[in-house]
Amino acid sequence: STKKEEVEAPALSQAPVLTVTEVKVNVSMVEAAQKAAATGADGVGLLRTEHMMLATGVHPKKYIKDGNEAELINILVENILKVVDVFYPRPVWYRTLDAPTDEFKTLDGGQDEPYEHNPMLGWRGIRRELDEPEILKAEFKAIKKLHEQGYTNVGIMIPLVQHPDELKEAKKIAEEVGLKPQKDIEFGIMVETPAAALIIEDFIDVGIDFVSFGTNDLTQYTLAIDRNNEHVAGLYSEGHPAVLKLIERVIKKCEAAGVKTSICGQAGSIPKIVEKLVELGISSVSANTDAVNEVRRTVARSEQKLLLKAARKLVKE
Ligand code: PEP
Ligand code: MG
Repeated sequence: STKKEEVEAPALSQAPVLTVTEVKVNVSMVEAAQKAAATGADGVGLLRTEHMMLATGVHPKKYIKDGNEAELINILVENILKVVDVFYPRPVWYRTLDAPTDEFKTLDGGQDEPYEHNPMLGWRGIRRELDEPEILKAEFKAIKKLHEQGYTNVGIMIPLVQHPDELKEAKKIAEEVGLKPQKDIEFGIMVETPAAALIIEDFIDVGIDFVSFGTNDLTQYTLAIDRNNEHVAGLYSEGHPAVLKLIERVIKKCEAAGVKTSICGQAGSIPKIVEKLVELGISSVSANTDAVNEVRRTVARSEQKLLLKAARKLVKE
């Protein structure tokens, strides 16, 4: 055998790695759900909705405008089903639509998307969905249908919250369609704004089962660096102490309140950051399909390091 094969195929690296911290997978394209499930991930820490909509070529608001809510719900059910089914009974956190105006402009019915100078600071995520609650309602109705079909592994995650009232409002809309957040179904938020991190206790008071760090956005908003602006890309760093400080604060508050913590941003695939998150006590780390195995090894190594450190301390005492 060649040198390369010897290096790449040691039997040990194929052995399943066990970790206490869960390792999950992000799914952006439902067609890739099978492959994502085959990683052995403990669930889906982020199921993105945007591609489900972009793939139809039609803006979701057009279905509503044309009186075709039922069709929109069907599309959502069909797409989400592909994921919750292959992962069952492993949990899948469905993230409600986070559609930036610049990306949805090209769709049929998207011509009247407003032009925004800073779409990343603009009309997207939950703030937009509360302005267009018909789309959010259709999403919740789709989730309810799946839940009624026995897919109790589906949970809901709200993106880009900056005020607890947004969470309150989203929960109210879920209840209006007959879903009981935190009773029927796991309900959580993404921590993507410094505001959410700084007042996480107020979100906990409203009631959540989990939080997930969207560090792609949390980094851009903390550092005031547009994640899509190449001129400042060199300054973009998820490991910036201010970002880590916000994360640490949230994990501590959540731990004290019995709220699960997770990460689904790209920072969850950076070894140094994963090690820090494991030390802080994060419940799960969710990575892209091609990174899951490596992340699991990093998590395992971090857990072992932590145990060894604690054991050495005990021995010295
Ligand atoms: C994030 O912001 O880290 C995240 C996972 O969401 P998205 O990349 O879809 O904005
Ligand atoms: Mg985000």
